Amino acid sequence: MRRLDDWDATRLEGLADQYDTPLYVIDRERVRENLRRFRDAVESALPNPRVMYAAKANTGPAVLEAVLETGTEIECAARGELQRAIAAGAEPDTLRYTAVNPPAADLDYAVELASDHPELTVTAGARDTFDRLAERGYDGRVAVRVNPGIGTGHHEKVATGKDAKFGIPAEEVPAVAADLAERFELVGLHAHVGSGVLHDDLDDHCRAIETVADLARETAAHLADTPATGVDAPAAAFEFVDFGGGFGVPYRPDEAPLDLSVVAERVAAAVGELPARVELEPGRYVAADAGTLLTRVNTVKETPETTVVGVDASLATLVRPAMFDAYHAVRNVSGADRETVSASVGGPCCTSADVFCTDRPLAAPERGDLLAVGNAGAYGYELASRFHSQPLPAEVAVDGDEARVRRERETMADVTRLERD
Ligand SMILES: *Cc1c(COP(=O)(O)O)cnc(C)c1O
Repeated sequence: MRRLDDWDATRLEGLADQYDTPLYVIDRERVRENLRRFRDAVESALPNPRVMYAAKANTGPAVLEAVLETGTEIECAARGELQRAIAAGAEPDTLRYTAVNPPAADLDYAVELASDHPELTVTAGARDTFDRLAERGYDGRVAVRVNPGIGTGHHEKVATGKDAKFGIPAEEVPAVAADLAERFELVGLHAHVGSGVLHDDLDDHCRAIETVADLARETAAHLADTPATGVDAPAAAFEFVDFGGGFGVPYRPDEAPLDLSVVAERVAAAVGELPARVELEPGRYVAADAGTLLTRVNTVKETPETTVVGVDASLATLVRPAMFDAYHAVRNVSGADRETVSASVGGPCCTSADVFCTDRPLAAPERGDLLAVGNAGAYGYELASRFHSQPLPAEVAVDGDEARVRRERETMADVTRLERD
């Protein structure tokens, strides 16, 4: 596993000098390694599983292309993600589109895409969404997103498994599936129950998986008992059951990384006998530790309570601390050998939520120092904004000794480009 300290200081200084800050750095080799490790573990524990990358963790071309280089397919949750996966080289027939309260334009696009690429699968978690697909003449491959009534994860805002917004309530699923089997090509069941799951959350997560697997068996039996569905045996009901993503990475220094062989065994045990392919779609696990955010110190202010360190990144660059109370490691790349002080690091936004950390031990920062923020590869750039008229940062991709900017730094002209007199 990779901690923030494992990034080479000289290299990070060089990238910051060349490409300016704030700067996202993505290591493509690490993306590939994470996926291979995940796939190897899952393939050792389960017969013929399928792992997809959940694109929304990082839809930059550097990550999507690295994912495709490993032969991994992509799960998309919006029209734009489908378009970017295709632009990165994904074969449209391999794409999975998970439609959560989809805008009309997203459904139009997906239906149009599926007319030329009938292997594309649309997953939805509301009867209404299936009706909207049917209204567009769609009768292709669908999967039902279920709400198992159990959510897991590092923060209530990501525990989707019990949030009524996501999925069809478990008790309604057999009947809804029977109805869908008559109107579409029903191929799967799907649940994504949480995010940021580490070993401590594994019991809960596996209970949710068990619930979904039980529901899949119950639904398959119901489909086989309902002649109008055309399903003649439970084993013929589903091509796959997708248990979503949610696999965590250690953000804090005292957290242990997931032992993937344990995770895969536990997942396999929770799934039990299932006459369908098991699918998983990690996002964070693939991209998080492949990325770091580089930022320069603008200001150092000593106060009676703490050392206040102002940097050029902010909650507009990386919102996870402000939005999810997320912990991110912060390292002083320039002054590693200085004495340690207790520091609060934040950006130039006028809200007290704009802090990356408070009372954190940090090698005494000086103006001009380069700081690195760890695990910034997932839900970092993706959630960036232009708050305070700040242009979006650049993202540079490294791969071995190579470095290439894959998302240019915005200019003020980009920020105001759509404004009119
Ligand atoms: C966000 C999401 C994922 C990935 O979640 P991670 O916690 O990043 O692994 C997988 N599937 C669906 C449907 C999602 O919405």
